[in-house]
Amino acid sequence: MRSAFNVLLLSMLTLVPALSRAEWFQREEAIMGTRVAVELWSEDAALAQRAMDAVIAEMRRTDELMSTYKPESQLSRVNAEAFERPVKVDPEIIEVVTRSFEFSRLSDGAFDVTYASVGYLYDYRARQHPTGEQIADALPAVDWRQVQVDPKLNTIRFLKPGMRIDLGGIAKGYAVDRSIEMLRGMGIRHAMVNAGGDTRLLGDRRGKPWIVGIRDPRNDGRMVTRLPLEDEAVSTSGDYERYFEEDGVRYHHILVPGTGKSAREVRSVTILGSDATLTDGLSTTVFVLGVELGMQLVGRLPGVEAVIVDKDGRIYYSDGLTPPQ
Ligand code: ADP
Ligand code: MG
Repeated sequence: MRSAFNVLLLSMLTLVPALSRAEWFQREEAIMGTRVAVELWSEDAALAQRAMDAVIAEMRRTDELMSTYKPESQLSRVNAEAFERPVKVDPEIIEVVTRSFEFSRLSDGAFDVTYASVGYLYDYRARQHPTGEQIADALPAVDWRQVQVDPKLNTIRFLKPGMRIDLGGIAKGYAVDRSIEMLRGMGIRHAMVNAGGDTRLLGDRRGKPWIVGIRDPRNDGRMVTRLPLEDEAVSTSGDYERYFEEDGVRYHHILVPGTGKSAREVRSVTILGSDATLTDGLSTTVFVLGVELGMQLVGRLPGVEAVIVDKDGRIYYSDGLTPPQ
């Protein structure tokens, strides 16, 4: 599963200082279609194991709740029934969907969880993409404003037939945030939780920053840059995560809601910010917006920074970051 290695590669490889070797704990599992990793520091080995168990359990729980690959998940039920009647869901789904609408609003619909109304027609593993006609038929159902959320009754309703939602652009960040809050509640002060392209760091690496590497989107083993970070979230969206090529065209998993086709302006977007739900949602959003509009949006959001690799491999840093010399 090398696709999961877009960020964090470095901190996973950084050698643990000899003196504290016994107190760093690490765990890695395949969940949510990706690699989940947790690394934390604790003087209490039993607590450390409990804490890592809790993170893995939380990731699995979120996956059960929000996956659209599992027909029995709540989200699958929403997609099957919400046009006929409001479907009651867990408050967490309401929370994530509501949060996703903030990105939709900020980006004039570049981020839109109803992209799935056309997105479901792609199967990257099977190298399948929809025809122009199929896209045209499905596009009217791509419109987040036609999703009715009732936060009191915890229901979701679709106002148009053929609508589907998918939280793949934001749910992993949400799960990472939940995990970090859990670790904090258990008294952990230094940790890293990573799910695919989404990472959050709790504290520092005991006297040093965590080092997060941004992968070169066209060269697996190489880094675009390395960022020293603490108490921060970082997410990368890339066109190399899930894709296939046909006649020189790269079909990948981030779609422009207006066209139903893969976004072509950039190869990867890394966002830094205070929490992983934010950085996850924004990395997908900025990927769709491209360099110019994407950097404009980042500039409007306090505490948010970005590194973008465009379609020609050029690297752009937001104003608050110093490019490496
Ligand atoms: P990953 O870490 O899985 O690569 P990203 O954060 O890069 O995730 O987001 C990609 C995922 O976002 C896709 O797999 C899909 O589920 C979802 N997605 C794709 N296009 C959009 C869009 N325009 N708006 C919201 N979500 C999207
Ligand atoms: Mg994302």
